[in-house]
Amino acid sequence: RFDMLMVGGGPAGASAAIYAARKGIRTGVVAERFGGQVLDTMAIENFISVQETEGPKLGSALEEHVKSYEVDIMNLQRAVSLSRQGGEIEVGLANGASLKARSVVISTGARWRQMNVPGEDQYRNKGVAYCPHCDGPLFRGKRVAVIGGGNSGVEAAIDLAGIVAEVTLIEFGDQLRADAVLQKKLQSLPNVKVLMSAQTTEVIGDGSRVTGLAWKDRGTGELHSLALEGIFVQIGLVPNTEWLQGVIELSPRGEIIVDDRGQTSMPGVFAAGDATTVPFKQIVIAMGEGAKASLAAFDYLIRSSVA
Ligand code: FAD
Repeated sequence: RFDMLMVGGGPAGASAAIYAARKGIRTGVVAERFGGQVLDTMAIENFISVQETEGPKLGSALEEHVKSYEVDIMNLQRAVSLSRQGGEIEVGLANGASLKARSVVISTGARWRQMNVPGEDQYRNKGVAYCPHCDGPLFRGKRVAVIGGGNSGVEAAIDLAGIVAEVTLIEFGDQLRADAVLQKKLQSLPNVKVLMSAQTTEVIGDGSRVTGLAWKDRGTGELHSLALEGIFVQIGLVPNTEWLQGVIELSPRGEIIVDDRGQTSMPGVFAAGDATTVPFKQIVIAMGEGAKASLAAFDYLIRSSVA
């Protein structure tokens, strides 16, 4: 039985595990894919104190750091259930096994919703991007499109307009869904163009990088193309919390509701990182929140009687 079990092995889970292990308690990490989303990215330029690194490099560094402590890493294992009985928490795995712990930190992260059009996979990190805070500056002075006219799409377009040469916002529906104040701000920007009722049908590239996109006018059915260097897909970030529905409190968007100590609605269960309601999904934030949830879980442990 673990004193503290992390479910998820991205930046948040790795950070939580290190903080727990340093307390000398029995610590475990169960992860579907140790490293998490950072494995899917290349240039990382906002991991403070490291001017530039690459996703896989940061992923290995996370693993090495965790492994330098006595932490039981169970990689390639998916958690499918969570329950609590008599102060003991049980995490069920897809392979049928179950793990028991006195406290749990959930850090299962999130995934960007994809357009699922030809070229999107091929040109990911080669012009197709999902995070304006992360990759915006890589497109300084270039032309980009933002896909999606909800709050995140319009925020991204406003943000990028200050960095890149030209932004085209592409909305599938016949109106933007973002808050009025954001739409007003967007309209005031001289280098932003908005295409409505437009469906992106293909990411076009030259084999090594994005050179444009194809879109269909949903009103007339006509096909068009747009020459550009970058495409930011902003059609939703989905938390990996389906397995927690009806078990702990989630927001309408499926994010785990946590208080300012990372405590969830189930005693002894804490959460951190992209899977939670904490805003701004970033590596440094996930690591900080992981450390915080771990310390809060430790505080919970020293206050509860040892069963
Ligand atoms: P994640 O990294 O998503 O890790 C989740 C972990 O949980 C993984 O180990 C996963 O396998 C595991 N998991 C999920 N479900 C289960 C389950 N049911 N059972 C067991 N394990 C499970 N941020 C920056 O700060 N700078 C950047 O430059 C940057 N670039 C990015 C580029 C791309 C392409 C992407 C996709 C993201 C980028 N981000 C960047 C965002 C950053 O990667 C995330 O904010 C960060 O990884 C969140 O950490 P996390 O630990 O909360 O979740």
